[in-house]
Amino acid sequence: MKQNRKELLAQFRSIAANPRKAMEDYQKQTGKGAIGIMPVYSPEELVHATGFLPMGLWGGHCPVSKARVYLPPFACSIMQQVMELECDGVYDDLAAVVFSVPCDTLKCMSQKWKGKAPALVFTHPQNRGLESANRFLEEEYSILKKKLEKITGVTITNAALENSIQIYNENRAVMREFSRLAAEYPQFISAVDRHAVFKSRQFLEKSRHTAMVQCLIEAVRAEEPKPWDGKRVIVTGILAEPDGLLELFDELKLAIVADDLAQESRQIRVDVPEGNEAPLYRLARVWQNMYGCSLATDTKKKHGPMLVDMVRKNEADAVIVAMMKFCDPEEWDYPIYRQQFEEAGIRHLMIEVDQEITALGQARTRLQSFAEIL
Ligand code: SF4
Repeated sequence: MKQNRKELLAQFRSIAANPRKAMEDYQKQTGKGAIGIMPVYSPEELVHATGFLPMGLWGGHCPVSKARVYLPPFACSIMQQVMELECDGVYDDLAAVVFSVPCDTLKCMSQKWKGKAPALVFTHPQNRGLESANRFLEEEYSILKKKLEKITGVTITNAALENSIQIYNENRAVMREFSRLAAEYPQFISAVDRHAVFKSRQFLEKSRHTAMVQCLIEAVRAEEPKPWDGKRVIVTGILAEPDGLLELFDELKLAIVADDLAQESRQIRVDVPEGNEAPLYRLARVWQNMYGCSLATDTKKKHGPMLVDMVRKNEADAVIVAMMKFCDPEEWDYPIYRQQFEEAGIRHLMIEVDQEITALGQARTRLQSFAEIL
C-alpha cells in the first residue's frame, strides 16, 4: 500500500532522531555492523562496498562536560559533542571510525580518538588542481581500503565498489531532485522535514534511502500545489540544527528553497565521475571537483558568487548563514562572501549554531527581525 506524504515524512523524522535504532535494525537485517563517518567528506562508497553501514557522526545536543578535558573551549561545537558522545561510549559499537582531517579541530580529534572503535585517518590534499593531488588521494584511499578490509574481513572488489558508486550517485541525484521539490512545495515540506530527509541519509543504507525519497517525491507531486505567502531563503554553513532552530524558520514562514550546508547539499553536490579509470581514482576526483566549501581550498574565492547565483536561480529573498560556533574554516570564509553579498545586493543574516544550546531566544529575535525586514 502506498504511503502518503505525512506518513513518509514521519518516518524520515523518526530515522533522523534515532540513529542507534537505524544501526540496530541494519544489524538485525544483514548481520553486519556499522562504521562511523566523521564530517565532512569521506569515500563512503568504500565502506558501503564492505556491506557495513556507514553512519554519519554529526554531533548531538547534549550538555558538554567530559569533552572539556580533551578539547579546548574554543574547539567547534560539533566536535565538542562528538567528543562527549565518545566519552560516553556511544560509538563503542562501531567497527571503526573514518576520519578525514581538513581542519585543525579534526586533526586534533583524530589524534585524541580513544574510543573502542579504531580511527582510520586519511588526508585530503589541499592543492586540489594538480593531477598529483588526485594520485595522492587515490593512494590514501587505497590504504584506507586495506584497513577497512582488515577490520571487516571483506575484500572490496572493483565490482562491489562500482556497484556502491552507482548507488551513491543515484542517491545524490534523487536528493537534488528532492531539494528542488522542497523549494516548489514549501507548504508541504517544512524546514524540519526537509532537514530530516537529508539527515536520515546519514543513517540508512543508501539504496533504501533512495527508494524512500522516490516514494516521497511521488506522494508530494500527487498533491495540488498551494501558493506560498512567506519568504524564500538559502541556508549556508556546516549544519542547521537543532530542530528548534528550523521550527523558527517554519513559524516565521522562511522557506528553505536551497541549501549550502556541509551536512546536506554539499554531500550531494558532486557525483563520482563515470569513466574507464579505476574506481579509487574516480573517487579521488570528487575532491578535485568539489566547489563552494570552506574546507576545499579555493584561491579564486568562488563560494560567494556561487551563493549569489543560488539566490538568483532560486528566486530567494536572502541568505541565512548558520555559523557553527568556533568553526575556523567557515569563519575564515565568511568576511569574503559577506562582502560579495554586499556588492551583489544580497540580503543576509548570520546566526550562530551551538549544538549544546537549548535556549533559542537570541536566534528567535534575530530571525524574527530579519523576517520583518524582508
Ligand atoms: S570544519 Fe568546522 S565544524 Fe567541521 S570539524 Fe572543522 S572546525 Fe569543526
